[in-house]
Amino acid sequence: MSTLATSFTDLFGHAPDACYAAPGRVNLIGEHTDYNEGYVLPFAIDKVASIGLKVHPAAAPRLLRLASTHENAVVEVDLGKLSAETITPWARYLAGVFWAFEQRGFMLPGADILLDSTVPLGAGLSSSAAIECAVALGINEALRLNLTREELVLLCQSAENNFVGAPTGILDQSASLLSTAEHALFLDCRTRETRQVHLPLSESGLQILVINTRVSHSHDSGGYKELVAACTTGASQLGVKALRDVPLTALPAAKETLAPDIYRRVAHIVTENQRVLETIELLDSAGPTAIGQLLTQSHASMRDDFGISCPELDLAVDAALAAGALGARMTGGGFGGSAIALVHTHDAETISARVLQEFAAAHFITPEIFTVLPGPGARAL
Ligand code: ADP
Ligand code: MG
Repeated sequence: MSTLATSFTDLFGHAPDACYAAPGRVNLIGEHTDYNEGYVLPFAIDKVASIGLKVHPAAAPRLLRLASTHENAVVEVDLGKLSAETITPWARYLAGVFWAFEQRGFMLPGADILLDSTVPLGAGLSSSAAIECAVALGINEALRLNLTREELVLLCQSAENNFVGAPTGILDQSASLLSTAEHALFLDCRTRETRQVHLPLSESGLQILVINTRVSHSHDSGGYKELVAACTTGASQLGVKALRDVPLTALPAAKETLAPDIYRRVAHIVTENQRVLETIELLDSAGPTAIGQLLTQSHASMRDDFGISCPELDLAVDAALAAGALGARMTGGGFGGSAIALVHTHDAETISARVLQEFAAAHFITPEIFTVLPGPGARAL
């Protein structure tokens, strides 16, 4: 029996019916393009949320018993009275998936679930979507509900938006449920079309280094809502449905008509969409060693045009590049969180050491650094 199944049996007094795993993700490129109906290119990582699941008999009371190896109490939830406020925050990511199935008209039985995740929490690797996707896949398979993975993406997004209460797009859940090993997932956020893009990092002697700055300055700024508003304003002043519809060649004219602050935001989104397409072309034609410069250009665009970097993220990127990274960029919402660097595996230690050294010299909080590789999407174990 696996360690997870053994822990499950020790905790609940019976073995799980089955175990499932769903990965976290890194967004290789395509930042803040999702809510502008643009392009993103995430990949599933080799760190996963695993669950053991036992479904209760249909005649039993509809009770969930939820546990995590990161928490010490078992949380009990009555499926007949599902409301987020009465559930401890971490367990909402699991209960929310049951809620979302019920919203789609399924009447689910109770269940026991033990969660064990290797996705670091709050590091921008989407530990939250990993949990949702593992639970959704588990319920779908164990109860033979036959929803497609695309339907599970939307169901998990609804759990996170409407039950947990976090406004997110479909990037994280798509990466976790639709990715395949050794590939990045090209996702068109308007049409939801996807394409698997070969990303043979280990074969090419490469890794992605994640540098979690462990700072968040987002409270100092207008934050996410202000950015979304600036993009919406830019689109409406340019007379398009979303910034996705603005071609690169329209930027010079846009600069003449838009206020400088709006123009800078528009310029980032338009050039970033272009960089996603160029990254895919380069991956197809020349492989992953060729894409470093596009990652670094993406960082410069977020720093100078979108205006969402911070000294810690800039230092992470600059130090990694100075120590030999092929490319580096901040990821995620901005004002803190993580940066990623594309590195030769044989340089990973030197680069990490240099980043740590420069953070210490700048008297910044010690960052957390780890390597990730593309892994398979959500699966039964
Ligand atoms: P991210 O998704 O970027 O890691 P979020 O804030 O969206 O960050 O999700 C993190 C939250 O997910 C945590 O605060 C916690 O509530 C929940 N979580 C993640 N992993 C676990 C785990 N292993 N056990 C319990 N809760 C977890
Ligand atoms: Mg999250």
